[in-house]
Amino acid sequence: MNAKYDYLIVGSGLFGATFAYHAHKAGKKCLVIDKRPQLGGNVYCENIEGINVHKYGAHIFHTNNKQVWDFVNSIVEFNRYTNSPIANYKGKLYNLPFNMNTFYQMWGVTTPADALKKIEEQKVEALATLNGREPANLEEQALTLVGKDIFEKLIKEYTEKQWGRSCKDLPAFIIKRLPVRLIFDNNYFNDRYQGIPIGGYNKLIDGLLDGIEAHTGVDFFVEYKNKWRNVANKLVYTGAIDEYFNYKLGRLDWRTVNFKTRIENTPNYQGNAVVNYTSHDQPYTRIIEHKHFEMFGQTVYDYPKTVISEEYSTEYTNGMEPYYPVNDERNNTLAEEYRKLTTTETDVIFGGRLAQYKYYDMAPVIEQVLNMKII
Ligand SMILES: Cc1cc2nc3c(=O)[nH]c(=O)nc-3n(C[C@H](O)[C@H](O)[C@H](O)COP(=O)(O)OP(=O)(O)OC[C@H]3O[C@@H](n4cnc5c(N)ncnc54)[C@H](O)[C@@H]3O)c2cc1C
Repeated sequence: MNAKYDYLIVGSGLFGATFAYHAHKAGKKCLVIDKRPQLGGNVYCENIEGINVHKYGAHIFHTNNKQVWDFVNSIVEFNRYTNSPIANYKGKLYNLPFNMNTFYQMWGVTTPADALKKIEEQKVEALATLNGREPANLEEQALTLVGKDIFEKLIKEYTEKQWGRSCKDLPAFIIKRLPVRLIFDNNYFNDRYQGIPIGGYNKLIDGLLDGIEAHTGVDFFVEYKNKWRNVANKLVYTGAIDEYFNYKLGRLDWRTVNFKTRIENTPNYQGNAVVNYTSHDQPYTRIIEHKHFEMFGQTVYDYPKTVISEEYSTEYTNGMEPYYPVNDERNNTLAEEYRKLTTTETDVIFGGRLAQYKYYDMAPVIEQVLNMKII
């Protein structure tokens, strides 16, 4: 067959764009299409008031994989952003993740030994109420892991806003571990490398797609589904797996987030990129102040305004952005059934978070492509 393209790549997120980059390097002719009005998938940023606004949710790149880190830095250099979220519970601030700063703010303890003693006392209390039985729900589970104070001020209501359900009605397995750090360290990630591309994620996507034909506003199902084999030898599909098979086994569920984004007439609204609101007093779970991902020190004040996004966890209905796969039996089984169907499509590569129905951070998505043999 003398097709025009070696690959038709559906989706210009990190999977599609990284695949296109490597295929192009290997001398393959690629056509990238995306149904959104812009390239980049979920890492796309919109520039508002000179600030890169993470339109599809705040994205912080982090990895332990040096190959992935070197690769992304070969496309665009990354800055020194370190994720250190703050929790606001009824106007009082706590550092996250749970560490010596948090314990000092919570109890006034100043040594690891005193912090540990306090946590252990509260865990013993929680275990005593269980009277030897296993935790029956998320609330009981969390209480046995970190005790009452941390649970009530930093976990309970935040988790209830995220899931739209009481912690007593959520299964215990959602929280397997709640690591506590007995050191003064507010760095959320344990990974060796983290940061944000200097100039924003669009630079990363532009670099990956440099020299490659890419079209926006093109839906595979409208324009190519029935004729793609006339256009390309192989298909790389990063859209939703159930949609590819025309939902013939049923629809997969997703969880989603609504973002209310606005400009504030101040250079510095909350002094940090991420502030979690851990009580029911606010209906949103977090406020993101986008400029702090890329502006540090005095640069924050070089821009007179700021852009913030309130995040609202919302039940997913058709037509919304599918953000997080639902990890329950129905959806896991259904996704597995769809995965079995993909094995019959020998000229199609299914990749990325939507086609695999799995939550992946950015680095593992890139790692998957780096490990693929592109032929
Ligand atoms: C709210 C949120 C926050 C996140 N934060 C982080 C973070 O802080 N750090 C981190 O490492 N990871 C984070 N992630 C994960 C990260 O977004 C993913 O790892 C990454 O987006 C995966 O890239 P992808 O190419 O698989 O998917 P996507 O980026 O979703 O790209 C898929 C693309 O396919 C297009 N498409 C779908 N169907 C069609 C069709 N029929 N025709 C044409 N185009 C189509 C879509 O428009 C989209 O552009 C977050 C994810 C979410 C949801």
